[in-house]
Amino acid sequence: MEQNRKSTVVITGASSGVGLYAAKALAKRGWYVVMACRDLEKAQKAAQTVGMSQDSYTIQHIDLGSLDSVRQFISNFRTLGRPLDALVCNAAIYMPLIKEPLRSPEGYELTVTTNHLGHFLMCKIMLEDMKRSPAEDKRMVILGTVTHNPDELGGKIPPRPDLGNLDGFAAGFREPVSMIDGKKFEPVKAYKDSKVCNVLTMRELHRRYHESTGITFTSLYPGCVADTPLFRNHYPLFQKIFPWFQKNITGGYVSQELAGERVAAVVADPEYKQSGAYWSWGNRQKKNGTSFVQKVSPQARDDEKGERMWDLSAKLVGLA
Ligand code: NAP
Repeated sequence: MEQNRKSTVVITGASSGVGLYAAKALAKRGWYVVMACRDLEKAQKAAQTVGMSQDSYTIQHIDLGSLDSVRQFISNFRTLGRPLDALVCNAAIYMPLIKEPLRSPEGYELTVTTNHLGHFLMCKIMLEDMKRSPAEDKRMVILGTVTHNPDELGGKIPPRPDLGNLDGFAAGFREPVSMIDGKKFEPVKAYKDSKVCNVLTMRELHRRYHESTGITFTSLYPGCVADTPLFRNHYPLFQKIFPWFQKNITGGYVSQELAGERVAAVVADPEYKQSGAYWSWGNRQKKNGTSFVQKVSPQARDDEKGERMWDLSAKLVGLA
């Protein structure tokens, strides 16, 4: 029975960009994909547009910007009665032009809630679902990005991420606090900070649970997927120039299709079974470029920071 069962993966934010193409790639490899999306109609259209067969997926509602919604998703997922073999934390928002912070229903700053706290809660609870799966090879994958790392060329552009001593988290992360370090609101930095938390979360999951559960925890930078809707809230001119710049000047451009294939490989292929690894294909994309385990930023490899981030995040999501 176990041998014939389709493996099941949950992918957040599978209604567009990297998540959608990862869903397509995994469905093609024979996986059953649970597309965890906030807009069900959009997700349904997207799945059809990329040609996913009806029996390879289901769509379930989640709004990662609301912790109640994350909990509701998990209980809905459980009614499917499918073991969880892999979880891909992919959804994200990037709101570079807003002047004032948006807030989650809990009152937390929305970018960090959506990209980090929602996923943190999901990983922590769904670890239990994953433990129950009879599969031998189980993986949790969290999307990272080069901009989390000021040691890399793509991460040097200001504002740089900085969690500081996480004083904003410690102060409760509600108004008037809007940044993890407790300083002035900067929307681009909020995105980068959230991606540092994504990598730190992956490393903490690895440190805390890999040995006892055998689950593989990884992160990856799939390349600069410059034409996904992630940049929809940027200036229209930026949206035109950025893909051209990445294709012709930096050589960092990766298609959505290829980025999705890379995520699928990290979820499913034997060569990506190294827990705690952050995978990259480099910044300059060569055809058939090979992947390697990349060193993460100094903040993202700081174990003390990781522990503090873990404890404070657990408190904020109500798990402490
Ligand atoms: P995208 O096309 O904008 O996709 C983001 C996905 O997240 C969409 O499906 C979106 O849903 C979903 N989402 C946003 N807020 C949500 C919420 N509150 N609840 C549930 N879902 C929500 O962006 P992308 O470029 O594919 O980015 C995907 C991941 O790749 C992100 O983690 C990003 O940091 C990472 N990444 C991207 C790049 C790049 O160059 N694009 C590079 C490195 C890493 P809707 O369709 O409803 O908006």
